[in-house]
Amino acid sequence: MLTAAQEKQRHQLYAQTVASMSDQLATVTVPAALFAALGWGLDEMERTYAATPAKVRATVACRAGCAHCCSTAVDVQAHEVFFAAEFIQNNFTPADLSSVIERTAFHRSQRQGLGANARSQLNSPCPLLRDGRCSIYAGRPEACRAHHSNNAAACAAHATDPSIPIAKNYIPALRARMFAVMLGMDEALESAGYDDRSYDFGSALHEALTNSLCLVRWMRRQPAFPESCLTPPLE
Ligand code: SF4
Repeated sequence: MLTAAQEKQRHQLYAQTVASMSDQLATVTVPAALFAALGWGLDEMERTYAATPAKVRATVACRAGCAHCCSTAVDVQAHEVFFAAEFIQNNFTPADLSSVIERTAFHRSQRQGLGANARSQLNSPCPLLRDGRCSIYAGRPEACRAHHSNNAAACAAHATDPSIPIAKNYIPALRARMFAVMLGMDEALESAGYDDRSYDFGSALHEALTNSLCLVRWMRRQPAFPESCLTPPLE
């Protein structure tokens, strides 16, 4: 439950993010400018976390090397996939790039044809997780940035058995702020006509890393990735 002041802040954060992101998108004509706008939005999530009251941040149990949440399904929109792909192409060695293409291909093959329930039960580590850490931390998707828990043991139990709920371990005062920025970014991109479909992160990332036409389609406001990369509908 949020206080009235927290609710007000949530609305302000959302409105500010939509306005700032929309301003930046209005002048975009080339991919580099679009990546700069996306970078602003994702940095805004980090700034919002840093500006959250210290007593709220003190309840966060997440620590480097704790990766229980990185075995759950990650749903994204196309812009998050392209931002991650750009990060990989700019920062990974050719050998590491080949390796991530191989792991995302396997991830994708595991999910082909699965319904929502079977996908959520798969419980396999994200293909970007290396030695217990996110290998694309500065380029990670919005859901990864917005996820915080106040109980690492509960996350570990959920990772072992996905039927164990984790929602009660979310931190409402922090989650509301992070989601306000995340949804503000998404709203600005959707209003500007960019693909707003929900994709499985690992599957769409494999497509982005192996098919340069995806970015062309996205810049033209067309669906970026094939239907086979979509998040399956809830059953
Ligand atoms: S992208 Fe990084 S933070 Fe997100 S699930 Fe994968 S390894 Fe974890």
